[in-house]
Amino acid sequence: MKEIPLSVPNLSSDIVENLRECIKTGWVSSGGKYIVEFEKKLACYLNVDEVVGVQSGTAALHLVYKYFNFTGCEVICPTVTFVASINPLLYESASPVFMDCDDTLNMDLDKLEDFCFYCCDFIDGKLINRRTKKHVKGLVVVHVFGNPINMERVLDIARFYNLIVIEDAAEALGSYYTKGEYKNKYCGTIGDAGIISFNANKIITTGGGGVIVSSNKDLLNKVRFWSVQSKTNPLTFVHDEIGYNYRMLNINAALGVSQLEKLEEFIETKKQNYQKYQKYLNHIKGLRLLPFNENTRSNNWFYSLIVDNPFPESRDELLKRLADNKIQTRPLWNLMHEQKHLKDFEAYKIEKAQYYQEHLLNIPCSTDLNEEEILHVASLLDIEKEPLVSVITPVYNSERFIKETIESVLNQTYTNLELIIVDDASIDNSTEIIRTYRERDTRIKYIRNTKNSGAAISRNIALENAKGRFIAFLDSDDIWDERKLEVQIAYMRKHKIGFSFTSYQIMDADGKVYERIIKAPDKVNYHYLLKNTIIGCLTVVLDRNIIGDIRMPIVRSSQDFATWLSILKNGHVAYGIKEVLAKYRKVNGSLSSNKLKALRSNWLVYRKIEKLSLVKACYVFIFYVLHALKKHVLLH
Ligand SMILES: *Cc1c(COP(=O)(O)O)cnc(C)c1O
Repeated sequence: MKEIPLSVPNLSSDIVENLRECIKTGWVSSGGKYIVEFEKKLACYLNVDEVVGVQSGTAALHLVYKYFNFTGCEVICPTVTFVASINPLLYESASPVFMDCDDTLNMDLDKLEDFCFYCCDFIDGKLINRRTKKHVKGLVVVHVFGNPINMERVLDIARFYNLIVIEDAAEALGSYYTKGEYKNKYCGTIGDAGIISFNANKIITTGGGGVIVSSNKDLLNKVRFWSVQSKTNPLTFVHDEIGYNYRMLNINAALGVSQLEKLEEFIETKKQNYQKYQKYLNHIKGLRLLPFNENTRSNNWFYSLIVDNPFPESRDELLKRLADNKIQTRPLWNLMHEQKHLKDFEAYKIEKAQYYQEHLLNIPCSTDLNEEEILHVASLLDIEKEPLVSVITPVYNSERFIKETIESVLNQTYTNLELIIVDDASIDNSTEIIRTYRERDTRIKYIRNTKNSGAAISRNIALENAKGRFIAFLDSDDIWDERKLEVQIAYMRKHKIGFSFTSYQIMDADGKVYERIIKAPDKVNYHYLLKNTIIGCLTVVLDRNIIGDIRMPIVRSSQDFATWLSILKNGHVAYGIKEVLAKYRKVNGSLSSNKLKALRSNWLVYRKIEKLSLVKACYVFIFYVLHALKKHVLLH
């Protein structure tokens, strides 16, 4: 699956035509037909007389704050917003007073009212902060993530206390009210002034850009004038006061004209995708999507997932796991009252914002997201559906085969896995080969031993680092069928099995597969395994929820055999899956010195680890040898 970004622009090809026109005519800067066309079309969409286009939402806010002359005054702002809502207040030497959010992430209007009532005096039509004695002159509200704030209530409070209301509708283009006093009115058009942003991540984009919306003609004329360096005479360059180079550019407006035509379609897609997420996520305990407010038609710009108990991962752990799976998500902005340059300003009883800052995750919401991608995100969120599998692979000088081994893991149809490779101080090209794969797939975790320590120690190091509920083993020259984990995990979960293994085949160094199948018996218990070492390490999957954490005994070989024995000795049973799901590589074909070594090490497991009596050890050893002979000799 390719990368899934959080939010990317959705540009259609007619934009290229508009840009070509800009370039052909030379109108690429702060003059040209697209600026006017974009302003007109947007005003028409918003049902207002006029808007003024500028280079960013931030510039729009700056000019509006300047118009209301907030210098030296206090302005009430949300702590849950993007910093662009606040910085322009500082440009104008005004002081923000930060308010908490409610459960919609918008400003808590009860607290706003309390602040005005309990912390301020209302004298001669002016709200005065009792502590600082400053004039509280303005109120900035943000429609967070496109979700319309209750403007009836905002204006009710603001009119009572003579507060100037600025709507930061940067994220809320297209959101409107469907009931009440402001029925059919768009966000951004209701306060004394509003702004909308067209930055690249917003619902439509001009690359960079913003507009100022107001029914106040004087305001619109003023900000347009300031945005072109306050030029009174274009010929003689007379400037009457301080000005800014903030005017929207024609090439940006050219994008906007095309994007605006797509706006309603984008909103429809956002709404449908939101509903799809909801459908796939609503049964997952500990996860919930924040709703958009009733009595509004929200543009559903960003989707907010709340991660809390009993979800087994914290928000940050989830974020990291999704990032490892190439899915981009984002926590809520660091709160404004905690930003280094804003810390000293007043913050009023902030509680909920803190909670959301720790628990919220914005999940991918681009308008070109398809159903398959939403399902992929949802299935990763559904931990219960695809619990993490840790694949344990010790490597020592395996340059010839490691590539195939790694690929057979990365190509698994079951995707929620981590491949923990412990490089046992290889001195061949293995390390380099692994590195190239690591750069491509973050599911690979790489650990290198400083000195060659053997497979048992390497596997134990991997086990210590394994995060998965399930543990699977694969040596660096063996390979899996791409359906192995999917089949095996599904089987284990369905039957609540803690230990399973599968049938496998044997191949030679060149990958030629022998016909004979090493068939997995239905069940293997401790006594069975003593006599017949039928379980192929490369086929084993363990569920740590059932059998608990495991470590391998430190013996030079047969440590896997000893491990299975120690698990089965506790009363567990290993279940065999008949399907052939792995290939074991046998590099030197016949009964060799390796086989004699295996006989010896198995004997040591019987005597030293299992502490069988000599008689019992001899008894099971005979069976073991017979089975081993059958397995290996019949191959040829
Ligand atoms: C994007 C955004 C802005 C600023 O817009 P720019 O065009 O990036 O300057 C302001 N406020 C909020 C809430 C935003 O999300």
